[in-house]
Amino acid sequence: MKDATQIVSLGRRPDEHQGAVNPPVYRASTILSETLAEYRNAGANRGRRAVTYGRHGVPTTHALEDALAALENGARARLCPSGLAAVTTPLLAFLGAGDHLLMSDSCYGPTRRFCNGMLRRLGVETTFYDPLIGAGVRDLVRPSTRVIFMESPGSWTFEVQDVSAIAEIANDAGIWTMIDNTWATPLYFKPLDFGVDLSIQAATKYVSGHADVMMGAVIASKAAEPKLSRGFLELGVSASPDDAYLALRGMRTLSLRMERHWTSGLKLAEWLFAQPEVVEVVHPALPWDPGHRLWKRDFSGASGLFAFVLRPEFADTRALSVFVDNLELFGIGDSWGGFESLLVPGAPGRLRSATPWPRPGRPDGQVMRISVGLEDPDDLIADLRAGFERLRSLGL
Ligand SMILES: *Cc1c(COP(=O)(O)O)cnc(C)c1O
Repeated sequence: MKDATQIVSLGRRPDEHQGAVNPPVYRASTILSETLAEYRNAGANRGRRAVTYGRHGVPTTHALEDALAALENGARARLCPSGLAAVTTPLLAFLGAGDHLLMSDSCYGPTRRFCNGMLRRLGVETTFYDPLIGAGVRDLVRPSTRVIFMESPGSWTFEVQDVSAIAEIANDAGIWTMIDNTWATPLYFKPLDFGVDLSIQAATKYVSGHADVMMGAVIASKAAEPKLSRGFLELGVSASPDDAYLALRGMRTLSLRMERHWTSGLKLAEWLFAQPEVVEVVHPALPWDPGHRLWKRDFSGASGLFAFVLRPEFADTRALSVFVDNLELFGIGDSWGGFESLLVPGAPGRLRSATPWPRPGRPDGQVMRISVGLEDPDDLIADLRAGFERLRSLGL
């Protein structure tokens, strides 16, 4: 069955919930046993959906886990209270003192902060690598390399990684692979099918989709699942059943929303590219984008998050404010993947240590990250057009 069909029923068990279509919110810490024998057995009898203690999961969280694991072809998914926790928890579970981590230079900023902060304190050394390195990652592998972490497309810069080439080298060398798959969602890229061990979703973004939930998920292959589950047990990471309920509710419409984010995003990308103030649009689904070949090979769709680069003279705060402050349909704020459009300026070059941004030969300027929401794309374009007219009136 196609994903769009599956996503409607995955994780639902109406027969276990009085026929209710959605698994209800189970709020629980203590789970009572009928007898001492049952209580003593609860640990022994710990199947995937056993309910033994709130922290270990309840039917609401199991439903979301089951749905995400099925969509990404994993053995099991585990939930975290945020997307960032879904990045840090597997790293803590798989790395120890003296280990070496290879981390994409295009990783999410707080992921980098975690590597340079807590992981360093714990004795883990991180080497940031060029996201476009592909099979060249072989040259960076050391005997102590335990994990290769990818993020594709990268945060802010949207480089598409050669995931299968990197996973093949890692698998041959007995190195675990992890990927932050938030941009593509479980619908448009399935990392485990490409040999990756652990796939991470900041479900705060598209999976939840309504700008009102913090949620993360880690989807594990059969080989990686025991070690990941041990890490969760040791760290005590668990997600709220209320948030799991909302994430699941959002997920039911994911395929519909993503189609709209994809087509509207491309329409805006093409329109932006034609504006004289724009020197570059960074979107892997555009045929001339450097990441397009790999995107086309591996992905089955695109999200609505991409970047465009304004001419450098528009980089000062006054010009940017004239452009952004008066937009009616674009919010100014962090996160993305909700139903509403967002636009924020950024400086991705400052977040890199292994590779420059812009890449040699590419134009420099003010990077703007746009999250194209579910509004009518023509209205979004009209709003941006008015913004460009305000910019032009500055006469810069
Ligand atoms: C937002 C984001 C995260 C973190 O998710 P939170 O739920 O905000 O903690 C992780 N990775 C990527 C790529 C993100 O964009």
